[in-house]
Amino acid sequence: MHLYSTNHKSELVGIEEAIFQGLPPDNGLYMPESIPSLSKEFWDTCDKLSFSEIAFEIANAFFKDDIPMEDLRALLEKAIDFDAPSVEITENLYCLELFHGPSMAFKDFGARFMAAVMSYFLKAQSKQIHILVATSGDTGGAVAQGFFKTENINVHILYPKGKVSEIQEKQLTTLGENVSAIEINGTFDDCQKLVKAAFLDEELRSKFNLASANSINIARLIPQAFYYAYSYSRLKTKGLPLVFAVPSGNFGNLSAGVIAFKMGMPIKRFIAATNVNKVVPKYLETEEYEPIKPSISTISNAMDVGDPSNFPRLKALFGGQYEEIISMISGCSYTDAETKEGIKELKELYGYVACPHTAIAYLGLKDFAKAEAEPFSGVFLSTAHYAKFLPDVEDVLGEKLAIPERLNELLDKKKVALNMNPDYDLFKNYLESNL
Ligand SMILES: *Cc1c(COP(=O)(O)O)cnc(C)c1O
Repeated sequence: MHLYSTNHKSELVGIEEAIFQGLPPDNGLYMPESIPSLSKEFWDTCDKLSFSEIAFEIANAFFKDDIPMEDLRALLEKAIDFDAPSVEITENLYCLELFHGPSMAFKDFGARFMAAVMSYFLKAQSKQIHILVATSGDTGGAVAQGFFKTENINVHILYPKGKVSEIQEKQLTTLGENVSAIEINGTFDDCQKLVKAAFLDEELRSKFNLASANSINIARLIPQAFYYAYSYSRLKTKGLPLVFAVPSGNFGNLSAGVIAFKMGMPIKRFIAATNVNKVVPKYLETEEYEPIKPSISTISNAMDVGDPSNFPRLKALFGGQYEEIISMISGCSYTDAETKEGIKELKELYGYVACPHTAIAYLGLKDFAKAEAEPFSGVFLSTAHYAKFLPDVEDVLGEKLAIPERLNELLDKKKVALNMNPDYDLFKNYLESNL
C-alpha cells in the first residue's frame, strides 16, 4: 500500500513510513493511493462473520503487502479486545456504542490499533521509540491506555495542570510502566509548544527516535472503519437501508465511515452532526469552507474544533467533488441548549443515558427523519460513555448516575506525575536524562 500527501499527489510513501512520520513534511495528510474495495460477496455475507473477522478483512485490504496475514490477525486480536454493539433504542433506531474500550471513548479503536502496528514494525527492526503527546484531555487517555505495556514504545504525556477533568487526569497518571505523565504549569498550548520544540530539535532527534501519536495518523483512521462495517453486518438483516449519524469534531470518525462506504459498504447516507463549531455543516450547505478561530467552547468539548484537521481527507475521499460529497453526507449542528434537550429526551423517551456528543448525533438523526419520506434504520454513534462527562449529564437530568466499575477503580488510584514549568530547557533536560 502506498500513500500520497493531500498537498503533493506525486510523492508516494509506504504505510510504515506514513505511520511513523504521522504527518507528511509538506503538512498535508497521508491518504491511501486508492481505497481497496471488498467483494460484494463479503458485504452480502458479513452477517455470518464475527467482529474480528470483519476487522481482519478491512485491515488486510490495507496491510496485505506489509504485514503477513497471521501476524495481522494476532495483532488485531490483541488490539481490539472489546465490543462495539449496535444497541436497539426503539424500532429502527440504534446506538452504536463505541465506549467499551479501556478509556471508554471511541478513540480507543484508533489508539490501540496504532500502538499494536507500531510495536509490530519496531520489533522487526529491534528499535525503541519515544512518543511525545500533548493533550487537553480525551486523546491523552486513549493514547496512554492504547500504548500501555506496548513493547519497544515509551510514552510521555504532557497535560495542563488543573485543566483536565479528574477522571481524565487519573487515566493519564495512574498507569506507570512505559507511560509517564508530565503536569505542566500552563495551558494546553504550552504543552503543545514543548512537544513541537522537541520535534524540531535536531540535536535531540539525533539521539532518540521520537514519534507522535497524532490523531491524524493514518493508523488511527483505518481501524475506525471496522465498527461501521460491523454495525452494518448486524443490522443489514433488518432489511432497511442504513443512515449513520456521526458526532464530529476533527472528522476522523466520519472519514473512516466514508472509507467503509468506499470499500463497498452499501448504506444510504451519513449525517455529520456538530456543535456550534459548524464549519463542515455550513460547507455542506453553501460549499464555503470558513474556519472558526478560535473555536467555541461547548459541553460537547471533544468536538470544539473550528478547523477540522481531517477535512482535506474527507474531500479527497470524494475526489474533491462537492456534488459527490453532498450526495452522501448531510450536515447539522446544535447549540448547548439543544444538546441538553437531546440528553433529556433520550432518557425520558427511551431510558437511555447519553453523553453530550452522542446526544448531538441522536438529534441529527431525528431531524433527518423529519424530512425523509423513505423508511430507513438510523444508527447514531456514541463516542464516549456518559460517565466521562458526568457533571454535565447529571446536571441536565437532575439525578445522580452510576459510574462504571472501571472508572470508579481509577478514582481510587494514586496520581503519579512530574510537575514542570513550561520551559523547553527543563523539558529537554528531562528527556535527555529519562530516554
Ligand atoms: C474525539 C471525539 C469526537 C470527535 O471525533 P472526530 O473523529 O474528531 O470527529 C467526538 N466525541 C468524542 C467523545 C471524542 O472524544
